[in-house]
Amino acid sequence: MKAESVFIDGSWRKSSNGQTLDMVAPSTGEKIGVIARGTAEDINAAVAAARKAFEGVWGQMPAVERGRLLSKLGQAILDHEDELTDLEALDTGKPLKLARGDIKAAARYFEYYGGAADKLHGETIPFLSGYQVMILREPRGVTGHIIPWNYPAQMFGRALGAALAGGNATVMKPAEEACLSVIRLTELAADVGFPEGAINIVPGVGEEAGAALSAHPDLDLISFTGSPEVGTIIQKTAADNHVPCVLELGGKSPQIVFPDADQEKAIESIVGALVQNTGQTCSAGTRVLIERSIYDDFMNALTKRFKQLQAGPHDLDLNCGPVISKAQQERVLGFLERAEKDGIEVAAQGKIHEKAPEGGYYVPPTLYRVVPRDHELAKEEVFGPVLSAIPFDDEADAIRLANSTDYGLIAGIWTNSGARQMRLAKGVRVGQVYINGYGAGGGIELPFGGFKKSGHGREKGFEALKEFTVTKTVVINHG
Ligand code: NAP
Ligand code: MG
Repeated sequence: MKAESVFIDGSWRKSSNGQTLDMVAPSTGEKIGVIARGTAEDINAAVAAARKAFEGVWGQMPAVERGRLLSKLGQAILDHEDELTDLEALDTGKPLKLARGDIKAAARYFEYYGGAADKLHGETIPFLSGYQVMILREPRGVTGHIIPWNYPAQMFGRALGAALAGGNATVMKPAEEACLSVIRLTELAADVGFPEGAINIVPGVGEEAGAALSAHPDLDLISFTGSPEVGTIIQKTAADNHVPCVLELGGKSPQIVFPDADQEKAIESIVGALVQNTGQTCSAGTRVLIERSIYDDFMNALTKRFKQLQAGPHDLDLNCGPVISKAQQERVLGFLERAEKDGIEVAAQGKIHEKAPEGGYYVPPTLYRVVPRDHELAKEEVFGPVLSAIPFDDEADAIRLANSTDYGLIAGIWTNSGARQMRLAKGVRVGQVYINGYGAGGGIELPFGGFKKSGHGREKGFEALKEFTVTKTVVINHG
């Protein structure tokens, strides 16, 4: 695998200054390889290659052929599912079952967008007599993509599937903490025949390669997934060149439980939506809001289930893996220490498996019994397996509480009353609502994105194709 290289204009090469970065396995803390440390010069070369591809072979390729290439890549991913699963689990520390699901999802993005490439079309508009108006739907041009470490393979599929289907030529800066699967997927893309320059990958450091990409004047759009802080920097930088941004940022997503819900089903789903990827999911359900009348009973059942959770190395395939890095481990443990100091009661804690290696970055899954509404555990994204329980009085209070953070990504609502389901769905200010279920990161077909500090723009589904393309109005005076 070409892990030590950047991929520009169809060829693998060393970064312009030959530097590399060490890759570490979170399960053990041990070095597993190196990646290229891409530079601003590499980004310039990558954007130039993408522009050339957009104006050349790639830009002129009929949509049906673009779609065929995407579908072929989807199949190639499935053909390499075992290898990619092992690589993703090793690099991110995520349990094998989840890694396998991620690889299948990456394949599914290319299948979905492969099928969609030739089904995206414009419209006509009735206008004055003697006129014909057409709305063409065109690619943006060259799109930049900066992705995080939590779902490298899925993010590759989500960003590039939609951007390439829309006819754009792309440049991606994956995350330095985890990007081995992205490099392997890029090799597969080259193998199935994507033309030179359609896909360019420059691994490296955010403040170097990432900053150079977001500041590049020859981009037509930038999509970013990661922290709100870096999202702000990206948006400000891109504004200097009037480059539009799609931002997928954090979340503090609520799961709201009413007394008439199927409580057993709710508990299983609530626990799953928290521990998925060890809580390192922007759409993780990290607040459980429970109606006061059932609070104690529900919490007792949730506590019982929570105590069974285990964290351990990816190959043991437990509920949780390690978190991504030493820094992230310290950050999550910092939340736990402050909560203890503030006297917030731990309702339940999962276990760290006895076989978890000493050097790995483990934290115990933790459930808090009653988190005050203004505490950081009720407001801030922890990005670890930490669940905050909070009581509410009635429906109006539930909606107020659900909307009381800076975020607005997704929400889960547990009730069997149809009218209440609809009132809640309309009341919460989030981009996705699940009724009697939860889909953290799920659903390739389902438009996804935020309100408020969770970002703006929509990815996934056909909405992403609209985001990554642009309309042009053509007015013909035919007399
Ligand atoms: P991050 O710093 O926002 O990183 C996301 C991506 O942006 C990475 O590729 C990163 O590169 C790049 N980047 C960093 N600084 C940049 C800059 N100045 N200009 C351009 N690109 C830049 O996220 P993180 O460090 O991985 O995690 C920090 C926190 O963000 C987490 O604790 C969590 O709360 C949140 N987070 C949210 C999501 C989400 O899906 N919403 C995902 C990941 C993290 P490097 O890899 O080199 O830093
Ligand atoms: Mg790693």
